[in-house]
Amino acid sequence: MVRLNEIRAGEVAVVEPTKRDAGLIYIGRINTPWSDRLVCPRQGRPDGPLCRIEVFEPWVAALDGLDAYDRIEVLYWLDASRRDLVRQSPANNGITLGTFALRSPVRPNPIGTSIATLIAIEGHKLMVRGLDCLDGTPLLDLKPDRSLFTPIAPPQPGDYETDI
Ligand code: SAM
Repeated sequence: MVRLNEIRAGEVAVVEPTKRDAGLIYIGRINTPWSDRLVCPRQGRPDGPLCRIEVFEPWVAALDGLDAYDRIEVLYWLDASRRDLVRQSPANNGITLGTFALRSPVRPNPIGTSIATLIAIEGHKLMVRGLDCLDGTPLLDLKPDRSLFTPIAPPQPGDYETDI
């Protein structure tokens, strides 16, 4: 795994496609205590430092109801990551694994996700614990933790399909 965009022994980079398939909207910004990737937690922890998520307009209205959940899923764009490695060496020892077998920030679409403890929502700001990103990391999405969420929309036939 790359920590500061270096390539380690055994790691494999590819030529990044220039064509993009989708556009993203940064819906906010995440404020954390970390300005250095080498100090940032590798994974957030529920009792980690308090972090602030700022949601931009016109998306603030979309926060309505989120305060019903003690835990939320936060998706963010790991904007300082390189995106071209297909094999990575997390221990920097020449032993590599495929990028999709890792939670490294280096991936073709550098999306980070964390389950965060929701402490408070104050207007357009959320206070959470459990993040692992740099201060200023762009926010992509917020959702209730899947394990706390029951669909509100009526069931559809596919909900009952099994393959057994
Ligand atoms: N929890 C997320 C996940 O599993 O999808 C992210 C895990 S990733 C291993 C966390 C690491 O990404 C941090 O330790 C830091 O080195 C790096 N990182 C954090 N913010 C970043 C950013 N904005 N750009 C690039 N790398 C970042």
